[in-house]
Amino acid sequence: MGGVAELIQRQVDAQMEALEQKLVTEMAAQGREMIGTATAVLADKLGERVQSLERDAASQLRELSRVQESSSLTASQIESAVNAVQDRLSDVIPASIPRAWGPSLVSSQSSAPRTTPPPVRSPRNQRAVTRSCYACPKCNSSDVRPSTPDGFYEYFLGLFFVRPVRCQRCLRRFLRF
Ligand SMILES: [Zn+2]
Repeated sequence: MGGVAELIQRQVDAQMEALEQKLVTEMAAQGREMIGTATAVLADKLGERVQSLERDAASQLRELSRVQESSSLTASQIESAVNAVQDRLSDVIPASIPRAWGPSLVSSQSSAPRTTPPPVRSPRNQRAVTRSCYACPKCNSSDVRPSTPDGFYEYFLGLFFVRPVRCQRCLRRFLRF
């Protein structure tokens, strides 16, 4: 009887061993599969995240350019408003003011308003007095067009009818009344 029991026990052991082996193999396969799936999911998630980051960046860029467009619109609106006011006041503003103040505005970028009168002119500057107050300080051309104000300082000066212009001949940019 002991022999039969031993035989049964041995078969059970063998089956258990086989089952164990099968389980280990399946588990290993499943584990590999799970790792593969997890990696794929992770990659998908990362891809989505990267895509949404890219979307965010793109929409932020769009927003930024939209704001820039609207602010340049505002700049041109301010400029045309300043133009209109300047046109109305052009008869009132003495012609000597732009000539006297123009060069100092071109050379000094300090926001402190000039309170002292301009220095005594040299003969070279006296020639400049005779030119038009709209003329370019570099090439003396009077073909200048309004330029978009750049930064708060130039917006601020716009309140005092000082605005940037660009010479159409030499492309020099300068400030004038
Ligand atoms: Zn010029």
